[in-house]
Amino acid sequence: MSLWLPGIGVSRGIAIGRVQKLHGGDLEIPEYTLPPADIEGEVVRFFGAQRRAKEQLREVRSRIPVGTPGDIAAFIDTHLLMMDDRSITESTVSHIRGQRCNAEAALRRARDALVEVFEQMEDPYLRTRGDDVEHVCTRIMRVLMKTDRQLAMKSESISEPTVIVSDDITPADIILLSQQSVVAFVTEYGGPLSHTAILARSLGIPAVVGLHNARRLLREGEQAIVDGELGHVLADPEAQALASYRRKQRAQAVARRKLTLIRDEPAESRDGELIHLLANIELPEDAAVAAANGAEGVGLYRTEFLFMNRKDQPSEEEQYDAYARVVSAVKGPITIRTLDLGADKQVDSGRSHGPTPNNPALGLRAIRLCLKEPDMFRCQVRALLRASAHGQMQIMLPMISNLAEFRQAAAIIKVSRDELRAQGVAMAAKVPIGAMIEVPAAAIAARMIARHARFFSIGTNDLIQYTLAIDRVDDEVNYLYDPLHPAVLQLVRMTIQAGEAAGISVAMCGEMAGDPRYTRLLLGLGLTEFSMHPCSVLEVKSVVRESSVGELRGVVGGLLERMLTGDADVDQLEELLRPGA
Ligand code: PEP
Ligand code: MG
Repeated sequence: MSLWLPGIGVSRGIAIGRVQKLHGGDLEIPEYTLPPADIEGEVVRFFGAQRRAKEQLREVRSRIPVGTPGDIAAFIDTHLLMMDDRSITESTVSHIRGQRCNAEAALRRARDALVEVFEQMEDPYLRTRGDDVEHVCTRIMRVLMKTDRQLAMKSESISEPTVIVSDDITPADIILLSQQSVVAFVTEYGGPLSHTAILARSLGIPAVVGLHNARRLLREGEQAIVDGELGHVLADPEAQALASYRRKQRAQAVARRKLTLIRDEPAESRDGELIHLLANIELPEDAAVAAANGAEGVGLYRTEFLFMNRKDQPSEEEQYDAYARVVSAVKGPITIRTLDLGADKQVDSGRSHGPTPNNPALGLRAIRLCLKEPDMFRCQVRALLRASAHGQMQIMLPMISNLAEFRQAAAIIKVSRDELRAQGVAMAAKVPIGAMIEVPAAAIAARMIARHARFFSIGTNDLIQYTLAIDRVDDEVNYLYDPLHPAVLQLVRMTIQAGEAAGISVAMCGEMAGDPRYTRLLLGLGLTEFSMHPCSVLEVKSVVRESSVGELRGVVGGLLERMLTGDADVDQLEELLRPGA
């Protein structure tokens, strides 16, 4: 009997294959007290396991095929670095020595404490980095417990299309499995921002995560259809359903092939409007992936990753190296966002003092934190300005909520620029400073901010969260997260109009910009610059090329007015947005 199971679709596409479960994800961790004479031996056993786990990861890294996107090797490198992280090793050793506990239990304590720190972080990206801590510790734990999943060996025997079903999957496992006949991943845990999800998207493998009890509900060897777009799995499908999904799969393959044909074509609408499509990236290596997908530059480079998994802050020199590398690698403009960390999500758990705020999303984060810690901000700004000599860079300030903040940050940048110039340091002649519009107050006051900012970029992920008063990482209220809410659209429109009136460019870099379902709407609202995950560029370009911007502008504004007065509803908007409508 066929069974329909809902989860969260995180990597689009349809896959059909046989279920293979990866067992042994949940480890039964033993706990016992060591006799004093065994303590130092246990420390040695722990470091031996850590070394072996690192060797395993290096082996995985060496098996990454040439031409694979850079973020994949970078994830493995991140895990390798984390294996040496003192918050894991020192804390484990101190549990062994201080509490005389066995290495497995000591490592579990160290891991749980660290994961808790990540879980309290407000930023959804950093919050999901707790998964990485789990993956790294589990790998060491498996060596300690001699329960290696032997994934590589097992996967070599996979020859027919296989749907891997597991509790969770590490980036290393994904790499090994993606080289076999694995056509989809289904996991019980994880969310759209987990590394599993990001990797599956980069590799173009459909994935559904957060499918609770998947291992219990799906049977080994049975046929399953995975729909990574709608986020569900259909187990043991009827012949009719199977035939219909196969047709859909073929249509998608044809559409994908067609998309690659427009890679080097301009993003020009039917009526000759040129639209700029840029990429959001997180690592210098992503620049190549962005270009390979036809992005004309980078609209958002998130700098937080440099500050993660470490106790100290990166020096000006280290930051300069990273920024110079990414600016040189990007052929075209690049917008670099200054640090978007919060009081609760200091990447150095030891540095944040005081109680965790009740509402971290509304607390000391992003530009607020940078202005509170001007030395940290100045250090980043100097590194950025120096890197500007290598390309076409602009600096973007996150979470601006009033003009004073923008002016204060811009003044610090100006002082740093004057200092560097006095020291004879090379910089670009112009480095435009812009504001991210992601707080409703900034959208409403956009005309005022536009007189000082050189550009805007709308961060819809946060703008929607703050406008609709819903925590963007809280599953319970996820159903209210609605990019088509008329209030959100009104704020987007106000921002675009304020930018147009002031003669500054307005981009959008939230997830909404990369979702082809909203492209026509945004074109109709007057958006001309879209920044998104590199993998979405071709799809959005295809919608742009089939649209008439003039026509859309004519109808979208009027429809939004009628939505705001209750004379039209979202169904009419969706009807209008259907491709070909
Ligand atoms: C946003 O808020 O839309 C955005 C792009 O920034 P982040 O997701 O990093 O908060
Ligand atoms: Mg944001």
